[in-house]
Amino acid sequence: MTISLIVHGGAGSWRPGSESEAVASMSAAVEVGRKMLAAGGSALDAALASAVALEDNPIFNAGTGAVLNLDGFVEMDACIMVSPGECAGEAFSTARIGAVTGLQRVKNPIIVAKQVMEETDHVMLTGDGAQRFARVMGHADYDPITADRRADWQDKRAKLESELELRGQPETESRQFKLRSFLKTHPEFAGGTIGVVARDAQGVICAATSTGGYTMKLPGRVGDTPLPGCGTYASLFAGSSATGTGEYVIRSLACRQISDNVERGMTLAQAVEAMLDQLGRDFDADVGFIAIDANGVPYGNHRTRDMPHAYFSGTSAIVAKMRVEK
Ligand code: ASP
Repeated sequence: MTISLIVHGGAGSWRPGSESEAVASMSAAVEVGRKMLAAGGSALDAALASAVALEDNPIFNAGTGAVLNLDGFVEMDACIMVSPGECAGEAFSTARIGAVTGLQRVKNPIIVAKQVMEETDHVMLTGDGAQRFARVMGHADYDPITADRRADWQDKRAKLESELELRGQPETESRQFKLRSFLKTHPEFAGGTIGVVARDAQGVICAATSTGGYTMKLPGRVGDTPLPGCGTYASLFAGSSATGTGEYVIRSLACRQISDNVERGMTLAQAVEAMLDQLGRDFDADVGFIAIDANGVPYGNHRTRDMPHAYFSGTSAIVAKMRVEK
């Protein structure tokens, strides 16, 4: 069966000058997983390894380099989901899922998500409980905030405060709804979430997504990334990972819909395009997806200017791009 792997580095607009680094990092992350799949490794191990490579890269908004919330701290979300099938010599008749939300001081949230899946009876752990679990699993105390992200936050926070002051409203009362329009007028905040979908020689599909959410989100906000069926999903028919404003993705149960539409007979490309169309019609949403189907065909597209991504299938070379040209 055809092995394949696809990664994304977040839907949004990348700063000029950072594009070639983002595309090269995509390619390198695919190569990490490609080697494992080619050696007979599982989709789970390959997706995890590619995701860790991207979490460790500070240019992406996941793990090291995660963005800061309104109060200036990080709350990271991650999810990994594996379709039914054989994994490491064991047969699983149903899909498996692990997720974490609101993690603050851990280097690799995606590894913690996998451990939730494998070492607990649960699907998802949040906040303090997730962090305590991570420590028990041996994850050291780690501050993922980089100097760049801190400086970026200070700049945005100052802008936000001056805009709120200009509008003459007390911050506490205006925050909730002012934030949305503020974020719209500062689109450079979007992007950088990471996602991976892999298919192994056994036909198992694994999807993994990890993010800091978006800059200036309200503390406690949970996005689409850790929610199975929303930002991350894997079935025997297709697996996908979403990026962009998570609230729209949640309200559309987007990744689940992609798999279901493939099961109903759409091609993977049709299913992704149909989801992008729906999100466009309903919300004019700034979103993107990567996906792989049961034949090992990778596909990705987005409604934002950029979505760095890279993929390979079978024995093909790795293709890496900043955006899908329309
Ligand atoms: N989907 C992520 C979230 O809403 C953000 C992103 O992909 O840019 O948390």
